[in-house]
Amino acid sequence: MKQQYLRFLLPLLLSVIFSTASAQHQSVPRDGGGYRETPEKINDLIDTRLDVKFDYQKSYLYGKEWVTLKPHFYATDSLRLDAKGMDIHQIAIVKDGKLQPLQYNYSDSLYLDIKLDRKYKGGEQFVVFIDYTSKPNLLHDKPGHKLDGKGLYFVNPKGTEVDKPIQIWTQGEAVSSSCWFPTIDNPGQKTTQQLSMTVPAKYTTLSNGLLISQKSNTDGTRTDTWKQKLPHSPYLFMMAIGDFKVYKDKWRNKEVNYYLEPKYFPYAKAVFGQTPEMMEFFSKALGVDFPWEKYSQVVVRDYPLGAMENSSATLLGDYVQKSPWELVDDPNGTGGTTIAHELFHQWFGGLATCESWSNETLNESFAVFGEKYWNEKNMARTMATPNVMTSYWPT
Ligand SMILES: [Zn+2]
Repeated sequence: MKQQYLRFLLPLLLSVIFSTASAQHQSVPRDGGGYRETPEKINDLIDTRLDVKFDYQKSYLYGKEWVTLKPHFYATDSLRLDAKGMDIHQIAIVKDGKLQPLQYNYSDSLYLDIKLDRKYKGGEQFVVFIDYTSKPNLLHDKPGHKLDGKGLYFVNPKGTEVDKPIQIWTQGEAVSSSCWFPTIDNPGQKTTQQLSMTVPAKYTTLSNGLLISQKSNTDGTRTDTWKQKLPHSPYLFMMAIGDFKVYKDKWRNKEVNYYLEPKYFPYAKAVFGQTPEMMEFFSKALGVDFPWEKYSQVVVRDYPLGAMENSSATLLGDYVQKSPWELVDDPNGTGGTTIAHELFHQWFGGLATCESWSNETLNESFAVFGEKYWNEKNMARTMATPNVMTSYWPT
């Protein structure tokens, strides 16, 4: 009964959301008050290519971006991008592989108002190049605009805390991705993505999509490039960089990976091992297979929220890292519930996305429903087989 209901509901929801997803550009923080109606849509994101490296001493990101856009309908010669508190070094239009500088105004350090080289027709693509520095620790609220986060977080970047790992991670929801790359930071926008990260060679990286190349550099760094072909909203972009040990699991023919601090690696299966079964359960229940190219989960330090459903790369706080003995008291508790919640968001939030943050209740209501739906199934199974969790413990 529930499965039939959901099979009917998902196509309906997708058609409603995508047919009305006409949000253009609105960088209103979530707590800005009032209903945020769908704003006028001037330009659409198509593709975002980023090349980033990091200064751990300063907690800076040095970025180069090639963003492909098109006017949504009417011809326009202007482009507004969200970009919070950055240093902008160059903005240019890309013509036959060459850069042609563009004029822009960035006086408020919130929006890049760019004058294009000419008027572009509705649907006509153009590529803008931006060379910039993101300085998340120097961000501060502006009059009439309260930040809801820094977007990019450096954990123990100078290594001064001996018992704490050195990590970098991002948190985009709601409008914080524009703290680390210029974009139209609105859930009504969707873009494909390619992200190259140059990091100290000893670290592991994670981003959306698939790892398509790794290149060692002569200065002790390595450049990892991740690519996601299915478009998603800017708030779902992610990076995580650190000393993670990766447990490789699988669902059907897709990679399912768990990134943990090395000392928790032996318990990866105990914490995350139900994930492939959840993916199968939700895929069948919804009548839509898990849509992304892989599914990874990474546990990071100092994450202030519970977890975040970045497309194909969920990020979780370190409270889910548990030993088998702690899991005895919480076999299907916090971790399992959160894992189901974030996984269900891969459909509701990631694949079908609310048109503005005033509709975020859609994202969250479906994810909470997913938790309960999984728990109901899992509870019935656990009661039928009381020692089921022991099969996930390391031996
Ligand atoms: Zn949620």
